[in-house]
Amino acid sequence: MSFASLGLSAPILKAVADQGYETPSPIQAQAIPAVIEGKDVMAAAQTGTGKTAGFVLPILERLSTGQRVQGNHVRALILTPTRELAAQVGESVALYGKHLPLRSTVVFGGVKINPQMIRLRRGADILVATPGRLMDLYRQNAVKFSQLEVLVLDEADRMLDMGFIHDIRKIINALPPKRQTLMFSATFSDDIRKLAKGLVKNPIEISVSPRNTTVETIEHWICPVDKKKKTALLIQLILDNQWKQVLVFSKTKHGANRLAKQLDQKGIHATAIHGNKSQGARTRALADFKKGAVRVLVATDIAARGLDIEQLPQVVNFDLPKVAEDYVHRIGRTGRAGASGQAVSLVCSEEFKELSAIERLLKQKLIRKETEGFEMVHELPESQLDTRPSRPKKAKKPKVGHRDGQHSARNTSGQKQKPRGRR
Ligand code: AMP
Repeated sequence: MSFASLGLSAPILKAVADQGYETPSPIQAQAIPAVIEGKDVMAAAQTGTGKTAGFVLPILERLSTGQRVQGNHVRALILTPTRELAAQVGESVALYGKHLPLRSTVVFGGVKINPQMIRLRRGADILVATPGRLMDLYRQNAVKFSQLEVLVLDEADRMLDMGFIHDIRKIINALPPKRQTLMFSATFSDDIRKLAKGLVKNPIEISVSPRNTTVETIEHWICPVDKKKKTALLIQLILDNQWKQVLVFSKTKHGANRLAKQLDQKGIHATAIHGNKSQGARTRALADFKKGAVRVLVATDIAARGLDIEQLPQVVNFDLPKVAEDYVHRIGRTGRAGASGQAVSLVCSEEFKELSAIERLLKQKLIRKETEGFEMVHELPESQLDTRPSRPKKAKKPKVGHRDGQHSARNTSGQKQKPRGRR
């Protein structure tokens, strides 16, 4: 199958060829014709599947005809949960649309709003935005939706996890009801389906990676180790295996900072990336990591989600994720686009509960590899595989405070948080 057979026109095909893409990925093969036809789409797909081009290419195709965008107006709105993802999607829009006379821009929180307001004055055929900043701009009349033709919710599950539901609902209420809506999500939980109801109409449903299965090309195992020795083991693994580009997941922002500092002190150049870092620092860290100037990127889940780092060879879970599904997302960072990857988890006895939940979800016991010199004092019990089906855990309510893509020092609704568990 070729891109030309999907109904894309010459300027877009040229941009795709410039990227070196030869054949459409499965999600692209299904999504592109459906979106060009004007259908609503609900797609279960993670990063690494080519989902971005799956919606950006056909949107460009649709927008290449039709009315010119007016000042402060938007014809297609792409909402993403994090600033990094917004920036990345924005880059893809610019790349794939480079031979078309369409205007696109990106807006997100954590940076000055004024330059964004100025850019929006000319209007944007495509606007990529995080929900909090978009609401700020909308309230200030800097963005208008009466010309809107297409809405995309990218990583909708993560947007809900991050507590953006109120902003999203407010944004949707401000959009014209007659529009095309595309929803992309790694998983389709009950909450996502609830959101989708009334949002998408007779959608084409696409699923390219079965839920909660790990990508086959990824080799993953655990290293049992006492908590106190995790840093030393990580250093040994990096040095012994001569890992050149490692994404390390840390449970907390503080832990990420500390670990990056400890690695740096051992001569392993490392940077932390998380929601408390300024946007400039996060962009710089990611750019340095991509170009190989930084060897280890220590990230929290939210900061790492959706980062497109091509063919990342090595992922390390310094801490196991609290929510088992996040294990699949995390290790999905490696082995992308058919490249082989490795994911190693450093697991201490206190994490036995998390380990069991992951094994239950994957329906397999994870391979254990002990490292000489790191024998455990506090034993990690033998796994007993629980074969009952896993029930997906509800994500934790976010704390009040500054988070990705959100207004400063407020929760997503700009109000005091309600107690947990009442969504
Ligand atoms: P995504 O899932 O959108 O984050 O895309 C993952 C990566 O796949 C990106 O680096 C894209 O540049 C790349 N990609 C997307 N579509 C194709 C394709 N048809 N052929 C080769 N690479 C692709």
